[in-house]
Amino acid sequence: MALNLDAVGEKIGPVTRQYSWKDTALYALGVGAGFNELEFVYEKNLKVIPSFGIAAVFDFLTEIGLKAEVNVAGILHGEQQMRFHNPIPPEGTLSTEGRITDIYDLGKDKGAVVVGEAETCHSNGKRLFTSVIKIFARFDGGFGGKPAPKTINPIPDREPDYEAEDCPLENQPLLYRLSGDLFQLHVDPEFAKMAGFKKPIMHGLCTQGFACRALVGKLIPGEPERVHRLDCRFSKALYPGDPIKTQIWKTGEGKAVWRVINSKTGDTVITNGIFEYGEVPKDEIRFDGQVAIVTGAGGGLGRAYALDLAARGACVVVNDLGGSRDGSGEGSSFPARKVVDEIEAAGGQAVANYDNVATRKGGENIVKCALDNYGTVDILINNAGILRDKSFAKMEPDTWQAVIDVHLNGAYNVTRPAFIVMREKGYGRIIMTTSAAGLYGNFGQANYSAAKMGLVGFMNTLKLEGQKYNIKVNTVAPLAASRLTEDVLPADLLDNITPEFVSPLVLFLCSQRCPVSGYIYNAGMGCFNRAAVITGPGVIAGDPESIPAAEQVTANLDKIRTLMDS
Ligand code: NAD
Repeated sequence: MALNLDAVGEKIGPVTRQYSWKDTALYALGVGAGFNELEFVYEKNLKVIPSFGIAAVFDFLTEIGLKAEVNVAGILHGEQQMRFHNPIPPEGTLSTEGRITDIYDLGKDKGAVVVGEAETCHSNGKRLFTSVIKIFARFDGGFGGKPAPKTINPIPDREPDYEAEDCPLENQPLLYRLSGDLFQLHVDPEFAKMAGFKKPIMHGLCTQGFACRALVGKLIPGEPERVHRLDCRFSKALYPGDPIKTQIWKTGEGKAVWRVINSKTGDTVITNGIFEYGEVPKDEIRFDGQVAIVTGAGGGLGRAYALDLAARGACVVVNDLGGSRDGSGEGSSFPARKVVDEIEAAGGQAVANYDNVATRKGGENIVKCALDNYGTVDILINNAGILRDKSFAKMEPDTWQAVIDVHLNGAYNVTRPAFIVMREKGYGRIIMTTSAAGLYGNFGQANYSAAKMGLVGFMNTLKLEGQKYNIKVNTVAPLAASRLTEDVLPADLLDNITPEFVSPLVLFLCSQRCPVSGYIYNAGMGCFNRAAVITGPGVIAGDPESIPAAEQVTANLDKIRTLMDS
């Protein structure tokens, strides 16, 4: 049976799971805890191993498989990412809601990857964790879908800083499955043979639980509540009874990478492990697993957005033509490349793109760059801009056209291919960049003002067309020191209005939590307010039954021009 590709974007859940302290302790036993880690198994001062979270919402994983209609015999857990927002309490009810975000095709003999994303909250009202789940469907490839994005292996080429040895029992899967993952592959010898294994294999998430214990034990002993990120990729099946070694490399303050090897065969069974710990940032806005395009990100505001998005986990396409302030002359790869270097030096992921937003081909290439490198687009910030100021009588067609082409047509050129991807996946965040010049006018900027107000009209319609697909479109009117404003704003003001003051609002509007669509916000110097096109109360001029004369409109002008109800 073929995969159900229409499942992409469909909401799953809420899936709920009530659990008591006994479930918490049972899970801990299932991943090898015992008298040596009494805090995970003894109800007195019980603590929760963070990896319990995903095991406890196993029904959600099952829903992903069912909705995508994968061939059950070929299912393996591919990758797992967890970002913790609050510690998991030892008992209560978990509620998980999410959706399938992508289905990738690895090829006929290789399989497919179904990607799900979910948020899990606790009955105490707190958001506990965000998870990205990748299910490897071995028998479902070759349907002509897009290829999976490349994954980067973060394991350094040196000896690990810590190693923890363990040995899951022959019967470990029988104990672990009581926590909720009842998949036959881990219990039924006949099913395991049909799936191509000599006997039932360990649950990948059980081995991940062993590793999570090892990571906590080595890096933050007794403080599992300080874990805020746990990512990994399951690379090879492990048979119960085989000894394992969790290898850990510290890569910075509160950061480590890890893998698990089968000590008997030397095979890596879990790879690409990332572990982060420290103070869990409360209600942090994150973009892990998301892909953002920022146009004109080689400097000014775009650079600030790109750096901030990457610092919060997004993979960023840093687009910039690298041209002059008025868009004339040759472009340069330097600005975009430099921002990518900055992002990578800070541990983030980004790719440079030098296409011109002002052409249709350029817009397509920018989106293609996101798809080729990261497989999707979740966020688009239309930010690229130039200025060619002239008082209107002196504004020749070229001057008019060049500005319209970069700002308004540029936004169309990139947004259209991005919107098609977002519509297909049922998720997207799009930002338009307007200006006070567009909203209120500015001498010598007729071209720029027209383009900038055109973007507001563009947003107004796109918000309606995107609504059904969870695509939110908002507009920002920034104020910041940049090369566009260096000769417009007073010099003493420039130091205090850096682009970083605008970025927080843009990040919020790009986030999953953004509740609004079709809004315009002013942002600068840390001050934010909403701008809107508003309409005053209607006034009947003269007799409602007949067409009013111009004089009757004139007679009622005071009432007509008011914006407020009296
Ligand atoms: P900036 O000049 O520093 O950034 C604009 C970037 O866009 C530049 O790096 C430029 O190389 C790039 N670019 C220009 N044309 C391009 C094209 N065709 N394709 C790809 N990239 C291109 O200026 P900024 O102030 O950071 O401006 C960012 C956006 O904010 C612009 O849309 C601008 O109109 C808008 N804006 C800025 C302010 C402000 O106070 N700085 C106020 C209102 C609106």
